[in-house]
Amino acid sequence: MKIAIDGPAGAGKSTIARLLARRLGIIYIDTGAMYRTLTLKALRQGIDLNNENELYQLILHTDIDFFYNGEEQKVLCDGEDVTEDIRKPEITAHVSRVASFPRVRKIMVERQKRMADKVSVVMDGRDIGECVLPDADYKFFLTASIEERAERRRRELIAQGYDIDLDRLKEEIKKRDEADASREVGALKILEDSIVIDTSHMSIEEVVDNMMKIIGE
Ligand code: C5P
Repeated sequence: MKIAIDGPAGAGKSTIARLLARRLGIIYIDTGAMYRTLTLKALRQGIDLNNENELYQLILHTDIDFFYNGEEQKVLCDGEDVTEDIRKPEITAHVSRVASFPRVRKIMVERQKRMADKVSVVMDGRDIGECVLPDADYKFFLTASIEERAERRRRELIAQGYDIDLDRLKEEIKKRDEADASREVGALKILEDSIVIDTSHMSIEEVVDNMMKIIGE
């Protein structure tokens, strides 16, 4: 079984995708973590984030792996655990730029397709239903109001030790949504066969229950 979950920033995709995969007993792949990992490595190496060719060369020489330690999923960049570093606001601020380049996306999509080949997966991102798993059994599009998404992101950041003004967060989220929805390839969009769920007034459990019902489990 292949399940694609797309949607804007802060809609709850990764938490929901992880729980859904656990309930179904299948693998969860967070594709946003892959773009974040490349952004982290590029920033560390001082690579110009406007230079598609340098980013393309970098992704060709970067191993990104997921590793489940029995409790949580870890993200490895060339063998180094970067799970926490890739969630930092500095990465969030630059990741859409890195993800905008068609040649970078082509490599990411190829790798994601390979990861999903011959196994059952729940995969979340922006272009999963369109580019990575066009034949997915279910394509969900999760969304929520900008107020709710900003509030959720603020709670996450507070848990990481940051405190960021809600209005500033709303602006940042809107900017990232616009960038993700307007790029040449892999743009975020609702597809003809998307099942749209607005999670604004739903708990995580309610959303997962709802999805399980749709899947028929
Ligand atoms: O899902 P998350 O918010 O961690 O994704 C970070 C960024 O990675 C997104 O804002 C988007 O620019 C990029 N991304 C993408 N395609 C995906 C997953 C994420 O372009 N499939």
